[in-house]
Amino acid sequence: MAVTRTFSIIKPDATRRNLTGTVTKMLEEAGLRVVASKRIQMSREQAEGFYAVHKERPFFGELVSFMISGPVVVQVLEGEDAVKRNRDVMGATNPADAAEGTIRKTCAESIEANSVHGSDSDENAAIEIAFFFKPEEIVG
Ligand code: UDP
Repeated sequence: MAVTRTFSIIKPDATRRNLTGTVTKMLEEAGLRVVASKRIQMSREQAEGFYAVHKERPFFGELVSFMISGPVVVQVLEGEDAVKRNRDVMGATNPADAAEGTIRKTCAESIEANSVHGSDSDENAAIEIAFFFKPEEIVG
């Protein structure tokens, strides 16, 4: 299986509860390597741009407000089949539906404050990585 990259965000509900290490450990234990990482405060413009694909959805405004409510940690993850591997360890969007042992089951507060973002395709991973990182900031 090919080694690929994906993009992850540790969301404000997790940074607020000091779960950056807990989440990162679960990612690492799932076979993903953190090859870039930075803690940032997203601006409203950045969050709206990042989630532009969701702008027609009813939760868009609240999602943007939540994502700028505190710091986030943006990361590039590398591993075999990284997008799927990350989605598997993240668990379902709604923590009530997430499987035991997943990040969202273990850490998330609600369907909105669900602790992590992960790209849903290789194509989107490339777009999302480029949204936050310069090539030289990624060290594999
Ligand atoms: N979200 C929300 N309400 C919903 C569905 C999603 O607030 O009913 C938020 C949630 O934080 C989720 C994000 O919007 O992670 C993006 O939604 P998506 O359906 O892409 O889920 P994901 O790919 O993150 O599992």
